[in-house]
Amino acid sequence: MTCGSKRVQRTEVSVRLRHGRTVRGVEADVCVACGERYFDLEAMHGLEAGSAENR
Ligand SMILES: [Zn+2]
Repeated sequence: MTCGSKRVQRTEVSVRLRHGRTVRGVEADVCVACGERYFDLEAMHGLEAGSAENR
């Protein structure tokens, strides 16, 4: 953790992608001290799927 805090909370967040698309319901570990979000591998894959979705 960049701020040094080890206290994180598992939370569902909305993530704004570069293209302006927003992916909701992504599970992330949110630092209770600074609010920074950490995504695990599964969440990252979900984001990639969301950003690649262009049918
Ligand atoms: Zn932090």
